[in-house]
Amino acid sequence: MPIRLYNTMGRRTEEFVPIVPGQVGLYTCGPTVYDYAHIGNLRTYIFEDVLKRVLLHNGYKVRHVMNITDVGHLTGDGDEGQDKLEKKSRETGRSAWDIAAFYTEAFFKDYDSLNIIRPDVICPATRHIGDMIGLIRRLEKGGHTYIAGGNVYFSIDTFPDYGKLANLNLESLQSGARIDIDSNKRNPKDFVLWFTNSKFGNQEMMWDSPWGRGYPGWHIECSAMSMKYLGEQFDIHCGGIDAIPVHHTNEIAQSEAATGKQPWVRYWLHGEFLLSGKGSKMSKSSGEFLTLPLLQSKGYDSLDWRYFCLGAHYRSQLQFSYQALDSARAARKSLCDRLTALTALNDGQVPLKAQRGENRWLDDFDADTASDLNMPKAMADLWGLLKDETLTPAQKLSGVLYMDEVLGLKLEGAMKTPQAEQIPQEVADLLQQRAEAKKNRDWAAADSVRARIEALGYIVKDTPQGPKLEKKV
Ligand code: AMP
Ligand code: ZN
Repeated sequence: MPIRLYNTMGRRTEEFVPIVPGQVGLYTCGPTVYDYAHIGNLRTYIFEDVLKRVLLHNGYKVRHVMNITDVGHLTGDGDEGQDKLEKKSRETGRSAWDIAAFYTEAFFKDYDSLNIIRPDVICPATRHIGDMIGLIRRLEKGGHTYIAGGNVYFSIDTFPDYGKLANLNLESLQSGARIDIDSNKRNPKDFVLWFTNSKFGNQEMMWDSPWGRGYPGWHIECSAMSMKYLGEQFDIHCGGIDAIPVHHTNEIAQSEAATGKQPWVRYWLHGEFLLSGKGSKMSKSSGEFLTLPLLQSKGYDSLDWRYFCLGAHYRSQLQFSYQALDSARAARKSLCDRLTALTALNDGQVPLKAQRGENRWLDDFDADTASDLNMPKAMADLWGLLKDETLTPAQKLSGVLYMDEVLGLKLEGAMKTPQAEQIPQEVADLLQQRAEAKKNRDWAAADSVRARIEALGYIVKDTPQGPKLEKKV
């Protein structure tokens, strides 16, 4: 099935055609590990996971690379402020290395509990300083850099295509820009490739380089590591929309300037923001953010958060509220209950995953997910499948397993609950008989089967999601 994706570069939806047929090189910008990830950050990782799962579901081999930013990310994207990890270190008295290790572990705990497939390569910036120095040297040789105040800067005037991702209008930017940010810069949009002692001389994380002891800028890490593991040109690069105007714009400039090859990346995909209670972007710096462990402590499951995110298109803003999260939790619970009941109807057996094209719901699901990851429609296809009275329990269950390859909601678990397994065969048979009687509108027969089920110690409750079996107490 052809996959169509909205490419931020060019602002249009295009058919996805990889460089090497059947294979995808995917780079996703990873976390800056100075604090817990908030649920907005996690929304972005869920969107990227859905993208990867759609590619896998459609038969592509995916090589996924993600960085861990453990040095170089300043509090301001335009080189202002101080290194986020160093700042945290000063505030807490812990070493920057400890902080990075602690929050990297916390991050992957969240990542795993959201059932996000781990990348093939996870690369911390601090372990790739040599690669970054190598790339800066290449830029230097090509005449794209200058040194001022001890720092190495990328000169955007040497790269005529600067700003093409963000559609930046450089003239208006220049006239309106605040030149006072860094007087070393020849152009306000120039950015640091390497900081030396001239700035933050007491920084804990520092390395020797041809330009003096110091540390890398944030943008160079993603260029250096993505090219190391995916080659000088690759298929897809993702992140949140806040990365478009500076981080990804600068990544493109330095990568294409260094290699002379265009385009560096064929498809740029960006996830929209999660908004916090007051309608503004959820962010760590504003202090108004929620974490997954906090939601868990309030009794929510991580997969409730995943379900919540699947209800919105990745390119739409999503407003957080506990009320909406409660609805997602209730919907996921009724989905799981329904799967448990269907498994009981299927003699407690979990069928094999359906084959592509087995029924119209699977076709619709494939078309919707391949249409720029339209997950709200894909979720409606899931419910359509479950409510389709022409399908048997086994057909529904196997269809759900097929869809869950993309949804990643661990739905097989709901088919294997003790309830499903423990229902006696006789009761499961009667449930099936009752479903058939109801389908034939033979209400008298349905009632008499219900009475027989009750005599065996079970109560059948009809819910909008289908029949539910409970043990009599
Ligand atoms: P960070 O750890 O701050 O580098 O951010 C990790 C990822 O989360 C980046 O791709 C950001 O663009 C993304 N992000 C940051 N804030 C939000 C938000 N409120 N909603 C969705 N994604 C976000
Ligand atoms: Zn990045």
